Amino acid sequence: MTVETAAQAAYIVAALLFILSLAGLSRHETSRSGVALGICGMVIALAATIAGAASGLTTTGIVLLVAAMAIGAAIGLWRARIVEMTGMPELIAILHSFVGLAAVLVGWNGYLQVEANGAAAGEVAGSLLGIHHAEVSIGVIIGALTFTGSVVAFLKLSGRIDSSPMMLPGKNYLNLGAIAAFAVLTVLFVISPGLGLLIALTTVALLLGWHLVASIGGGDMPVVVSMLNSYSGWAAAASGFLLDNNLLIVTGALVGSSGAYLSYIMCQAMNRSFISVIAGGFGIEMASADAGDYGEHREITAADTAELLKDAKSVIITPGYGMAVAQAQYPVAELTRRLRERGVDVRFGIHPVAGRLPGHMNVLLAEAKVPYDIVLELDEINDDFPGTSVVLVIGANDTVNPAAIDDPASPIAGMPVLHVWEAEDVIVFKRSMAPGYAGVQNPLFFRDNSRMLFGDARQRVEEIVAAL
Ligand code: NDP
Repeated sequence: MTVETAAQAAYIVAALLFILSLAGLSRHETSRSGVALGICGMVIALAATIAGAASGLTTTGIVLLVAAMAIGAAIGLWRARIVEMTGMPELIAILHSFVGLAAVLVGWNGYLQVEANGAAAGEVAGSLLGIHHAEVSIGVIIGALTFTGSVVAFLKLSGRIDSSPMMLPGKNYLNLGAIAAFAVLTVLFVISPGLGLLIALTTVALLLGWHLVASIGGGDMPVVVSMLNSYSGWAAAASGFLLDNNLLIVTGALVGSSGAYLSYIMCQAMNRSFISVIAGGFGIEMASADAGDYGEHREITAADTAELLKDAKSVIITPGYGMAVAQAQYPVAELTRRLRERGVDVRFGIHPVAGRLPGHMNVLLAEAKVPYDIVLELDEINDDFPGTSVVLVIGANDTVNPAAIDDPASPIAGMPVLHVWEAEDVIVFKRSMAPGYAGVQNPLFFRDNSRMLFGDARQRVEEIVAAL
């Protein structure tokens, strides 16, 4: 068996492991084995690729390959070890940008190689040359778009630039113009390839990626991250065609389609139009930021909250990003245990985009050993707020904002939210009156049945546990 045949056989095994990994990742109970299968698949894929490549390389080539892999692996391990759960989306966004950049470099390399060797000397000749140049063009476009889009997503998620949408005049026409430019440039590039055309294609794609993501507002960023995940998959698949690597094509298609499907279900959960989000907020006319006068908010102390909880029959806890920042899940789990011992019915209401990752709150609560059966999804719990004595909003903001329902001009209008204000009493744990991720004020804080418990969520919950 030649190295090439062995590599192809290993690729089939790796592809199957990736499919099984995705299946495992779709359920809480099997997610760990899903990750393990994915790691096995990647080890096999890397070993097969290196063995395949090494046979055609000089010693210097092999040394360079191993050195590049060692540096990449060291940086990857270091970042993965120190990243906080709350920093995960921005890490994912920047990793997507690398996939995009790699696809651009592979595309450029594909073009320059044919240029340097001459079509006849290379592996591609005749009518295949046209297909090759189409592959270069498509790979470069998707890669460049993913690269700048992911960089903007990283900058927004990490708070380095404002998360509000950039609203250039005629933004939809700019996007449509860019797509028309791609079509024309690709045709010209296939007919008569040239460096100038490739530079033009790359530049338009870089600008479009930047514009598409910059035009999307804070609240819709979860969808953008999963959409960029999808784009990075398609970029990898395009590179697979250029490098003639079947596994890269299969893996890219798996990532591309699963990312697209995740974006679609997230759009449904957030009542957003899929087309509008992938087209950079197409059709959304953003209202000016609200500066409404909501009146005065009222405050409460941890001791008074403990008193309120002692007399409560039922409590719903709605956690959000602030619970993750404060790492308050452990005292929250302790509070839950104490209250349940006293006979209080305690449940959790989880919004699909609470925190900064899909499933962020579920992971934190599972970590703190909160029983699964009292952790409910938005749809399962939203009708139960009217009969509830106390709601504890722990570091959540956008996901409990009634403006999403009451104010059609709000940037988060139409997004489903937890109807916490329908309970008898609502206690909001946060450090200030600052808005949430979407940058809009929350009228919930000024309602008659709401009180603010200011301070770090972990500290405040610990004080309540002590008082109980
Ligand atoms: P938000 O981001 O809307 O609000 C979090 C609140 O937590 C803030 O108002 C902040 O107020 C408070 N907070 C921060 N630190 C602490 C602390 N140590 N103690 C107490 N409070 C704290 O949270 P939500 O979870 O309600 O909403 C998630 C938002 O993030 C949505 O807009 C969603 O679209 C977006 N998003 C979600 C992603 C996902 O996949 N889940 C990915 C990317 C974005 P203060 O500063 O006053 O303390």
